[in-house]
Amino acid sequence: MKKHNFSAGPCALPQEVLAKASQAVVELDDSGLSLVEISHRSAAFVRIMENARSLALELLGLDGKGYHALFLQGGASLEFLMVAYNMLEKKAGYINTGTWSAKAIKEAKLFGEIDEVASSKNENYNYIPKGYTIPADLDYLHLTSNNTIFGTQFKEFPKTAAPLVCDMSSDIFSRQIDFSQFGLIYAGAQKNMGPAGTTLVVVREDILGKVSRNIPSMLDYQVHIGKDSMFNTPPVFAVYTSMLTLEWLKNLGGISAIEEINDKKAQLIYSEIDLNPVFKGYAKKEDRSTMNATFDLTDGKLKEPFEKMCREANINGINGHRSVGGYRASMYNALSLESVGVLVDIMSEMERKA
Ligand code: PMP
Repeated sequence: MKKHNFSAGPCALPQEVLAKASQAVVELDDSGLSLVEISHRSAAFVRIMENARSLALELLGLDGKGYHALFLQGGASLEFLMVAYNMLEKKAGYINTGTWSAKAIKEAKLFGEIDEVASSKNENYNYIPKGYTIPADLDYLHLTSNNTIFGTQFKEFPKTAAPLVCDMSSDIFSRQIDFSQFGLIYAGAQKNMGPAGTTLVVVREDILGKVSRNIPSMLDYQVHIGKDSMFNTPPVFAVYTSMLTLEWLKNLGGISAIEEINDKKAQLIYSEIDLNPVFKGYAKKEDRSTMNATFDLTDGKLKEPFEKMCREANINGINGHRSVGGYRASMYNALSLESVGVLVDIMSEMERKA
């Protein structure tokens, strides 16, 4: 029986995507060949790459607006340094909302001055900073739209003259945003898009080419743009499976349709957390993530029975990250409302038992 997969990533993917992707590993579209044994220069794979890139831009509402979509390797972690390599000449601003922003800051410091414009470190990142002043002389401002570990999410984004760079690894394609406010968006595939192994980078071309340093080819966004995201052999399985997930999302009605479902899932679990005295939430209410709900039991004695009930109900992956503790229910696009319902039923059953 398929488990209710609340894993923080890699995580649940749509069942029909998994079925099609596994079929393609055996044989791609009656071609007599597997997806993973054809040349990435073959017409079949070039079509897949083109389709994946154009679907990404279409779903984000960015086609025809000067953006390019790239499917790169190295995870979101490589983007921490690629962004700075390509865009940091003198000084960049970073908003520190936890582990992932901190890692991005560490890499960027190798390339220039970093101004930590705002941080929520003082409360172990349980909120999104507000009311800060953004310096006027930044090469770019970087932020993490959704902090996967702490369960916080920007609801509004700062207005800046400098390009806004966003790590959207854990909430891309999950909610409607004006994506054109960003100069560059990056996201590891392994939450809302596909298997680990590729990173989506969406970049507006006019913000590139402004630094004076030489950039190694593999780390140069302009090289990847010039080669249509095929500078070297792309991760064909991850790109193909991402393309299938993007098609699945488009057929569902796009981001607006999935946002409606995501909002329902989030409302269901957060109202249980707020009304049930056995549980308490971690993130400040106004900054709560619709993707990762972080919470804990109010009484440690209930840990064993709660976890046993979860196991018996086939719930997977709700342990919190070690830096927060407690529990984290990750509710990415492919996790159904029914799965959240199963968890919430257990939570209310705990209240009856307590
Ligand atoms: N940024 C965020 C917001 C993440 O959640 C993660 C991974 N969970 C990363 C970056 C790192 O991604 P990767 O493992 O693809 O390098």
